[in-house]
Amino acid sequence: MTIVPRATAGPGLTRLRRAVRTRLLPWFDRHRRILPWRNNRTAYRVWISELMLQQTRVDQAEPYFRRFLKRFPSLKCLAAASQQDVLKQWEGLGYYSRARNLHKAARLIVREQHGRFPRELQSLQALPGIGAYTAAAIASLAFNKDHAVLDGNVIRVLTRLTGYPGELQRTETRRDLQAWADALLIKGDAARYNEAMMELGAMLCAPRNPRCAVCPLEGVCVARQAGDPESYPRRRPRGKVPHKVVGAAVVVNRKGEVLIAQRLDSSMLGGLWEFPGGTLEDGETMPACVARELKEELGVDIEVGERLMIVRHAYSHFTIALHVYMARLRKGRPRAIHCADYRWSTIDRLRDFPFSRADLHIVDRLKADL
Ligand code: SF4
Repeated sequence: MTIVPRATAGPGLTRLRRAVRTRLLPWFDRHRRILPWRNNRTAYRVWISELMLQQTRVDQAEPYFRRFLKRFPSLKCLAAASQQDVLKQWEGLGYYSRARNLHKAARLIVREQHGRFPRELQSLQALPGIGAYTAAAIASLAFNKDHAVLDGNVIRVLTRLTGYPGELQRTETRRDLQAWADALLIKGDAARYNEAMMELGAMLCAPRNPRCAVCPLEGVCVARQAGDPESYPRRRPRGKVPHKVVGAAVVVNRKGEVLIAQRLDSSMLGGLWEFPGGTLEDGETMPACVARELKEELGVDIEVGERLMIVRHAYSHFTIALHVYMARLRKGRPRAIHCADYRWSTIDRLRDFPFSRADLHIVDRLKADL
């Protein structure tokens, strides 16, 4: 049953459907980009690419996709790998819960479903890290099931095409746009329809300076006709992005090895390695913060020396200034108290461990100073 979208200022559904069928799909057939995940399209390859493409640009994701598939060419290989190996291949892509969930889900499919990828939305969504969007993408792109996807690109295209007035942050907005996407879906040709909508959003209907003059849907687009496509999708103004000041120590022992700690799985960047440290508290000096954090995390007393560098990094919801200090052990042997594990590593071997982007700056600096 087709759910008719809630009324908006948009053009009639019939007109839009006709334009999608007669103009958008032929445009897509002519202009679609050659991308590695579009060849040999198995559920495994679609799944990896869709997860990588969340929050990541196509040009950034491409080399990661190739490397990942080379290292783990099949679901079985991925399931047999260690989490550290998977995180290492993901290093630098961010949002590491995607990699941890990918690994967990691969093991579940191999263990409980004899390595057969589920085809139905419900079974797909029961796997760790697979939400409504990824499930619809796998079901439609790999199995050509009639499900419409709704990602950032499709949301932008639909709000502009229909002149959708609701703010993106409202819960009803997603429901209404899913209804539009479902209503426009071309039954029996879901993979092509979904890819065409996403491709339009990526190639022409960009957030800034959309190329309306060459868009196949120009004639039926409300935002184009109103002359204000960039004002869609409507958004509530964002508040100020929080900023954190964080301290970390590069503790060096007599052998010249440095102390690194593995973050708890339950924490942000879980499973990755870091130079131990934490957030500055009110009234605390930076060296005192670093010493306190090392005591809490690893149970050691350290002598904090010179500041090595400050790393500035932006995450999706906050920014950090990471103050990094050289240090040496004064008392105690490290124990994993508030971390999953710890290691003494030579500077040369640091690259064997998966680190976040911010910590990789420290690794690079240490290697350069060697
Ligand atoms: S006409 Fe412009 S705003 Fe409308 S869908 Fe095409 S590129 Fe986007």
